[in-house]
Amino acid sequence: MTVDEKLDGILSTILARNPGEAEFHQAAREVFESLGRVVAKRPDYLEDALIDRLCEPERQIIFRVPWTDDKGQVHVNRGFRVQYNSALGPYKGGLRFHPSVNLSIIKFLGFEQIFKNALTGLPIGGGKGGSDFDPKDRSDGEIMRFCQSFMTELFRHIGDKTDVPAGDIGVGGREVGWMFGQYRRLTNRFEAGVLTGKGLSYGGSLARTEATGYGTVYFVQSMLERQGTSIEGHRTVVSGSGNVAIYAMEKAMKLGARIIACSDSSGYVVDEEGIDLDLVREIKEVRRARIGDYVKTRKDATFIATGKGVIWDVPCDIALPCATQNELTARDAGVLIKNGVRVVAEGANMPCTPDAVEAFRKAGILFAPGKAANAGGVATSALEMQQNASRDRWTFDQTKDRLGVIMRNIHDTCAETAEEYGEPGDYVLGANIGGFIRVAEAMRAQGVI
Ligand code: GLU
Repeated sequence: MTVDEKLDGILSTILARNPGEAEFHQAAREVFESLGRVVAKRPDYLEDALIDRLCEPERQIIFRVPWTDDKGQVHVNRGFRVQYNSALGPYKGGLRFHPSVNLSIIKFLGFEQIFKNALTGLPIGGGKGGSDFDPKDRSDGEIMRFCQSFMTELFRHIGDKTDVPAGDIGVGGREVGWMFGQYRRLTNRFEAGVLTGKGLSYGGSLARTEATGYGTVYFVQSMLERQGTSIEGHRTVVSGSGNVAIYAMEKAMKLGARIIACSDSSGYVVDEEGIDLDLVREIKEVRRARIGDYVKTRKDATFIATGKGVIWDVPCDIALPCATQNELTARDAGVLIKNGVRVVAEGANMPCTPDAVEAFRKAGILFAPGKAANAGGVATSALEMQQNASRDRWTFDQTKDRLGVIMRNIHDTCAETAEEYGEPGDYVLGANIGGFIRVAEAMRAQGVI
């Protein structure tokens, strides 16, 4: 049997063992496409079912989350925590609260997280969790009660040396605070490093909020520097208007890019004068309203509702998908390429469909996969854990500067690995192989576990 046939066999078993999990299958397939190159050079990675073990989560927890709404009605949601791989450190990865959440989505995110966390070079394993709870239009009281109920089960599975959750879609500083409070109450322990993305008043790290968006832009900057150019003056489109999108826009603007459009699930706004970030922030973070409100203040801007157009139709040099998985399709990639896009970097997890990624790679577009480009968030979470472990607190610049170095290292690892494996400029291959080798080496050293 050739190594490719062996890999195909492993992948078939994984797909069959996890039926109907489309997103997980997609994430696994993508990594397997890169692994062919590694095992051709290093067939020893096929020994001891190392790849098979890597694809099987160490533990998967699914639990009931009951809660009561403001009218006294009881609801039931489903909670998840997939503790995927702890060869490099405690499981680490966010919690997502969104109605689309199911086991497939949490497993795809957890699987990606293993490689992403390995790429940071920091001692963190991979995990992910969340719930199909929909926080939209829920009061603060309802969301707090949900967070408390969620933690009432989750607390027994986590710990600063075991598993360290953080935020993701639908979970920000506010929710982390409520969950931390409940953890502290249930355990009677102020275990600062059990959650990251905490508030600054009780052990959070400066620059954690900004880190994912900033990191994505640092990555773009490194890719462009390698080509002898910079971000300055480039028309940039950023999908989303949550935490990742807001700080990607802020950093890109600071570096001289022109942000033309951003979005939420209701539609997108185009402002040729440049997006007014303070206004977006006020709408999304203070009013918690829809992005369409933007045009009530900025009269020359346009709002296009979902279903009437796609943000990727807006011509740009740099596209930063920062919303959610599979938001950028092959059709969108075709339009972006036709309009002359030069760089696409994933601020979200797996926002480009496989055929969109294929189109970018074929067209020679600089493409940064999420597991490399959005690793700044989790890397800074690991810096938060360091501060908590040493009962210390670093300045904003100290943390931000370390983030800058980490992102540069991730970029260089991806670029050098792609070169070593015969595909210079292929950041997808570089990220998958670079992350895989680190985890594989640690797993092998620790025996059949
Ligand atoms: N949810 C983020 C991610 O996708 C951050 C996870 C963390 O900080 O643990 O990487």
